[in-house]
Amino acid sequence: MDLTLPPDAAAWQRRARAFAEEVLFPHEEELELNGSLPRATKDALRRAVVEHGFNGINHAREVGGQGCTQLEQTVVNEELGKATGALWAVVAHPALPLREGTPAQIRDYLVPSCRTERRACVAVTEPSAGSDVRLVATRAERVGERFRIFGEKWFVTTGDEADYILVHAHVDGDPDKPTLFLVDKDLPGVRIQREPKFTHTYVFGHPEFVFEGVEVGADKVLGGVGRGLELTKDWFVEARLQIAANSIGAAIRALELADDWASRRNQFGRPIRDFQAIEFMLADMAVEVMAAKTMVYRVAWEIAQGADRKAVHARASAIKLYASEMAGRVLDKAVQIFGGRGYMRENPVERLSRDVRVDRIWEGTSEIQRAIVGGQMRKRGTGVFTGWPGA
Ligand SMILES: Cc1cc2nc3c(=O)[nH]c(=O)nc-3n(C[C@H](O)[C@H](O)[C@H](O)COP(=O)(O)OP(=O)(O)OC[C@H]3O[C@@H](n4cnc5c(N)ncnc54)[C@H](O)[C@@H]3O)c2cc1C
Repeated sequence: MDLTLPPDAAAWQRRARAFAEEVLFPHEEELELNGSLPRATKDALRRAVVEHGFNGINHAREVGGQGCTQLEQTVVNEELGKATGALWAVVAHPALPLREGTPAQIRDYLVPSCRTERRACVAVTEPSAGSDVRLVATRAERVGERFRIFGEKWFVTTGDEADYILVHAHVDGDPDKPTLFLVDKDLPGVRIQREPKFTHTYVFGHPEFVFEGVEVGADKVLGGVGRGLELTKDWFVEARLQIAANSIGAAIRALELADDWASRRNQFGRPIRDFQAIEFMLADMAVEVMAAKTMVYRVAWEIAQGADRKAVHARASAIKLYASEMAGRVLDKAVQIFGGRGYMRENPVERLSRDVRVDRIWEGTSEIQRAIVGGQMRKRGTGVFTGWPGA
């Protein structure tokens, strides 16, 4: 069994590490201090993404992407996940469901998004619809050949930066017709009502949108009426793997910093790592990172081998659950090892400890991931998690 990283993936990893350290890290403190970056810096970062060849890493070359394998995307996301303030988000991953677009939609939305000329955000969650997406109240009423969209969406990540929105709405208010619409942000009736502050400092915002009778043609339906949930589920798999990889990157950076500090910090006449209480924390952190990384790389590799889509969906939930909770535990220990310095915002460990908290909430909470894992065991048996390909 050869578990060696293929040379191409190793090259992507090296490039991503350099990009994170040389291009993203220098903006971390400014972002933390000011809560946002100047427009000119955000534009420079967007250009840097293209210059370094990280645009559209999750899409095929034919549509302007990099054609990366899932494993290559994973190693890139791991390296980018080391940056605080979610600076990894400057490397946009155009939403996967865009692949299902018509030729015109691919030309007008996906291709320019892969080139970073356009940017999408995804609007599913609402005041009354979170984990239970069937409760979505946003409706798209048919008016002849066109639709009028009414509703309110919350937590729309990158909604401030994006120029179009993938809106999850129920056609005619029917929950059996969940549908994704491509909505240009400058259309009449699209309004940002609030931009709340969150625990983390995030390079972009998570505004709330209101859609007041926004009119779109049938050509803005993505993938067909009634396919919204199916397309969103596909996107969840990709997003959950990305979150897991980002979490691993955050945990590795925290472990490296805590390991270094524990060797340099002297108390009671010796480095604090000589106290078993500290060394055991470092050991637990290392073991947890190793376990999460092994899970994530395995599934990324399985996807390239053409693994069964449903099994991948099940394992993506297991991975997101484990990696996000692992990052929470590792970051908490890292803060503890730094003592008071771990509580200072100038310390990357402090920032990462806030950054990783949301990974247990978005793209399905930990409870929802457990419900998926439990449901999959009922349907397919425990082997989907305990088995091994080829066994
Ligand atoms: C910073 C941030 C960015 C986000 N970005 C986006 C975005 O870009 N687009 C978007 O559409 N959404 C986004 N979200 C929304 C996110 O996906 C939801 O917050 C998440 O799915 C949970 O929904 P909720 O907040 O309504 O919580 P609820 O669904 O109300 O859940 C509340 C609690 O109940 C638990 N719970 C609910 N149902 C069950 C169940 N069946 N079994 C056990 N426990 C249950 C949950 O686990 C949680 O602990 C974002 C959220 C945040 C915080």
